[in-house]
Amino acid sequence: MDYSEIFSSSQALLEAIGRADRLTREVHGDSVSLERAIFLSWWCDRGNCSFCYMSTQKKRISDKMRARRRVSSIFAEAELLRRVGWKVAFISGGYGAYTIEEIRDVTRTIFEITGAPTWLNVGVLSGSEMELFGGEIVGVTGSVETLAMNIREKICPGKPLEPITDMFGGAADLGLERAMTLILGLGEGAADLPVLIDFIREHAISKITVYSLNPHDGTPYADSPPPPSLYQAGVVAALRLEFPRLRIVAGTWIDQLPNIGVVCLAGANGITKYPLLKMFGNRFGEKVEAEIKAAGRQVKGTFTDKSRLNGELKADVPNRKEVEAALERYIQRINRRSEKQA
Ligand code: SF4
Repeated sequence: MDYSEIFSSSQALLEAIGRADRLTREVHGDSVSLERAIFLSWWCDRGNCSFCYMSTQKKRISDKMRARRRVSSIFAEAELLRRVGWKVAFISGGYGAYTIEEIRDVTRTIFEITGAPTWLNVGVLSGSEMELFGGEIVGVTGSVETLAMNIREKICPGKPLEPITDMFGGAADLGLERAMTLILGLGEGAADLPVLIDFIREHAISKITVYSLNPHDGTPYADSPPPPSLYQAGVVAALRLEFPRLRIVAGTWIDQLPNIGVVCLAGANGITKYPLLKMFGNRFGEKVEAEIKAAGRQVKGTFTDKSRLNGELKADVPNRKEVEAALERYIQRINRRSEKQA
């Protein structure tokens, strides 16, 4: 199918979203999960992707070790996600912030906390690095970001595609799944869809996260608007129609919440990129759930039920007391924010 057809008229777009909706329900059922990436650090060795918040931070960070998060707060966040029923979208470190052994140890503890294997999104890994991991991961994520080849090199000068595809090859040899990230609104368009579709097929990608651009201050995109919600929905619908089993996660930002309903209709299995602590239990979290429900989907996990924040940390975590203290601080922040808005 020529997917640029989807964008030829509003009628074609609505018709494609309708077909994608039916197909999604048939293959995946009617639930949509809430997901959140766990960041290990605010440091990235590359630090030169033109859309990325981290690219604005690199010159401000003189000591990369100090930009690493405390592991106690990482584990507290994982426990919080378990309590509220969210998935860990992936573990993300920024290039060069941790050794691979450190990433493995943190990932194992996160697995013990959540009980679910997760994805790595920590840069390009060699075969021997991937071999260090076992059942705590599903697979590896390539930060592809865009497959509009005329702009990719300029936007991501430190992330050529070949090492990413080499990693996918190594992951396939080890029986690991492959995921990718894509950002819409960087200057690509519907004409780039065929390359994306070929790429997903060639590398047997089983999960894709489709973000819409979040224009960060200090980047060349600071004054760019995020792409239209219906463009993101159209891309998601095209991917759903082409790949019925693909897991599609859609990401937008707190100021783009009305995108959620339509991307769910278009075939998203999960949504991500929302600041948990700012939005949980208040009108923003309520809006997310309302959008998902308005699309005829069930919310997997909760963005509103504050009783779920309380619980017992069952996993055997290092520095337990510090993890419990960090959890307490997170919960207090959520409660303070939602009381302010009550
Ligand atoms: S490699 Fe990733 S974290 Fe680093 S600047 Fe690029 S997008 Fe940001």
